[in-house]
Amino acid sequence: MKEFEIARKIGKELTEAELKEAAAKALGVKPEKVGRTVVVRRSVDARQEILYRYRVQAYREGEAYEPYQVAPYQDVHQADAVIVIGAGPAGMFAALKLLQKGLKPIVLERGKDVERRKVDMAKLSTQGVIDPDSNYCYGEGGAGAFSDGKLFTRSSKRGDIREVLHQLVAFGASEDILIDAHPHIGTDRLPEIVKNIRQCIEDHGGEYRFDSRVTDIVRLADGFEVHCGSTVYKAGKVILATGHSARDIYELFQQKGWTLEAKGFALGVRVEHPQWLINQIRYHGKYQPFMPTAEYSFVQQVEDRGVFSFCMCPGGILVPSSTEDGTVVLNGMSNAARNSKWANAGVVVQIEPGDQPAEYEGPFALMDFQRDIERSMYQWVSQHGGKHPLSAPAQRMKDFCRGIVSADLPKTSYHPGALSAPLHELLPEHVALRLRRAFPQVDRQMHGYYTNDALLLGVESRTSSPVRLPRNPETLEHVDVPGLYPCGEGAGYAGGIVSSALDGINCAEKC
Ligand SMILES: Cc1cc2nc3c(=O)[nH]c(=O)nc-3n(C[C@H](O)[C@H](O)[C@H](O)COP(=O)(O)OP(=O)(O)OC[C@H]3O[C@@H](n4cnc5c(N)ncnc54)[C@H](O)[C@@H]3O)c2cc1C
Repeated sequence: MKEFEIARKIGKELTEAELKEAAAKALGVKPEKVGRTVVVRRSVDARQEILYRYRVQAYREGEAYEPYQVAPYQDVHQADAVIVIGAGPAGMFAALKLLQKGLKPIVLERGKDVERRKVDMAKLSTQGVIDPDSNYCYGEGGAGAFSDGKLFTRSSKRGDIREVLHQLVAFGASEDILIDAHPHIGTDRLPEIVKNIRQCIEDHGGEYRFDSRVTDIVRLADGFEVHCGSTVYKAGKVILATGHSARDIYELFQQKGWTLEAKGFALGVRVEHPQWLINQIRYHGKYQPFMPTAEYSFVQQVEDRGVFSFCMCPGGILVPSSTEDGTVVLNGMSNAARNSKWANAGVVVQIEPGDQPAEYEGPFALMDFQRDIERSMYQWVSQHGGKHPLSAPAQRMKDFCRGIVSADLPKTSYHPGALSAPLHELLPEHVALRLRRAFPQVDRQMHGYYTNDALLLGVESRTSSPVRLPRNPETLEHVDVPGLYPCGEGAGYAGGIVSSALDGINCAEKC
C-alpha cells in the first residue's frame, strides 16, 4: 500500500478514473493493476486556489485491505452490571464499550430523553425558564446532543478516534466524518444518533433510567449503592460521567471527603461576526456558495496567558447554556448545513489556579469564581432592563477594545437577545485586558476580523471543568475510591465530544 495526495478545485468532483490513474502512478504500476483506492482524509486548502486536498491509500491488485471494524456488541441481559452516571458522550461511549466487553450498563441520567428535552430547551430560549435537570447541558446526549457536533480532538494520545467515528457512522452520521479533517455532524442530526445509540444499548440488554439524578454514592464492601432520591441501584463498579457543570456531584465528593482539586479553565466571550465576512477573509475574497462555510481558529499569547478561539461554529447560532437560575452562559451550535448568517466562536483566556481573586480558595475556588462571573452577567442584565431573563450583556468589538459602551448593537443570532453593556468592566480585569490586546493582533492574520461589525457577548465560561476528580493513572479509578471511575469532561480529563467519548471508552475498558 502507498499513500499519496491529490488536490481538486472545490466543486469539481474527483472521479474514480482519476483516482485510479493517480494510484497507478504512486504504485508504479499500470491502472489495471490497481486493486483499490481508499480516500482517508479530505481537507480544505485556501492558501492560494481554493482546493480540497485528498490523502489516498492505493492498494495493488490482490493486496490485502482490512477496513476498520467496530467490535461486536454482546448480549448482556444476564451479565454483571456497571452503573454509568450521565448519558453524555463519555457515558454513552462507556456504555457501548461495556456491551462490547460483555458487561451490562445501567445508565442513570438526571435529564429527559432527547425528544422530551427539546421542549425544555425551547422554553429556555423563549421564556428563560431553566429546568436544572433538562437544558442545553443536561439530558440524554449530555452537552453533546444539541452541540455543534464538531468532532476533532487535539490529542491522539487518548485513544483511537476511529473507534468513535465509525460507531457514529453506524448510528447514523454521514460517512464524510471518517475523512474530513474537521468532521462535523450538526445539531439537527445529533439527536437521532443519540437515540440510535440508546436503542442499541437497550436491544443488547443494557438499561437507561431517565429523570434519575444521582444524589448519593455509597461504598459497600463489594461495590456501590447509587441513590437517585429514594431509588437505589447496586453494582460492583461505577463510571461517573456527569460533565463539567455537575456542581452537586463535586459537592457530594467534598462531603464524603473524597479528593478533588481546582483545575484551570478558560474564560471570555462569544464573538459573533457576519458569516459572509469570515468567508471573505478565509477564502481571500474568492468564496463561492458551494464551498464549505469558512471556519477559523487562533491562539495568541498575551502576558503569559493563552488567548484562543474555542468551539467555533461557522454558520451557527448562539444558545443559552446555563444550567442554573440567575446565571447567563453562552455557547454555540450549528446545523449540518452550517447555513445561518453568523459565525460565532468562544474567545477565551486561560485561567490558572491562583488567577482568581484571593477570596476564592480551596478545590472550589475556580468553580465559585466561574459561577460568580456568570451571575454578574445575569444581574447586570436584570438591573438594566433586559427584556428576556437570559439576555446577554454585549459590546461591539472595537468599542470593547477602546472601553466605550456601544451606542447600538448589530443583529445577533442569540434568541434571548443582547443588551449594550460595558463588558470591558464586567469581565475580570485580567481577562478583559488580554482580550482587548488579542483582537487587534488576530487581525494581522485575518485581516478584517477586528471590526465593530463583530459582537462580543458575555459570558463564555464553560470551556472545561474548573474541578478535577483525580484518578490513578493506571487503573483510572478515583484515587480514594477503587471501583469508581471519574470520566469525561467533568472529571477534568477531557474537553469536547470526541475526547470525552474516548475517555468513556478507556474507563469502560478498565472495568
Ligand atoms: C451548546 C454546546 C455546543 C458544543 N459544541 C461542541 C462541539 O461542536 N464539539 C465538541 O467537541 N464539543 C462541543 N461542546 C462540548 C461537549 O458537548 C462536551 O465537551 C461533552 O458533551 C462532554 O461530554 P461528557 O459526557 O463528559 O459530559 P456531558 O456531555 O456534560 O454529559 C454529562 C451528563 O451527565 C448528566 N448528569 C449530570 N449530573 C448528574 C447526576 N447527578 N445524576 C445523573 N446524571 C447527571 C447530565 O445530565 C449530562 O447528560 C459543546 C457544548 C455545548 C453546551
